[in-house]
Amino acid sequence: MLCGLDLDGVLCDLAPPVAARIARRFGVATHPSAWTRYDLRELELGLPRSAFVAFLDETFGDPALYAEAHPTDGAAYGLAALRDAGWRLVGITARPAHLADVTVRWLRSHGLDLDDVHHTPLGTKAEVARRLGVRATVEDNPVEAESLAAVCDSWLLDRPYNRRDLVRRARRLQSWDDAVGRLCQLELFA
Ligand SMILES: [Mg+2]
Repeated sequence: MLCGLDLDGVLCDLAPPVAARIARRFGVATHPSAWTRYDLRELELGLPRSAFVAFLDETFGDPALYAEAHPTDGAAYGLAALRDAGWRLVGITARPAHLADVTVRWLRSHGLDLDDVHHTPLGTKAEVARRLGVRATVEDNPVEAESLAAVCDSWLLDRPYNRRDLVRRARRLQSWDDAVGRLCQLELFA
């Protein structure tokens, strides 16, 4: 059985390096636990909007950001546990293709073992999941999680920035521990 995993916000925690860059560029101290929007452009940080949006585009296009990020809490344990339970694991990410090399190097350097990584534009992950025949996905984007629910068991990993979003078809996971508990049980009774 195949499990599709989002990278950013699920395996990779970009928030600390993004916060550090906001501090360097704008002199504003902001903690990711207070970020209540999935789309950072909607954050109210009191910054000029056009400058902040340009900064975000530049930041998320920079391979160095991804190289300096750390894995999310519990991700390494979670991947190993899912593998032990018999899952095959692929990444399904909206990172653009120019980040493919830094992505593979980062996964390897942190011992995160995926069979493959599929890069696809935002909003198209469900098509990839259907084509690959994935049984379950883990995602932190509530909109993407809802569309994935049409083609597989779609799980939304709980984050400060997706807590206010209602999901109807996707189900929430509290943590990687929770993910392992639910997905390994799914495998056991399949
Ligand atoms: Mg994500």
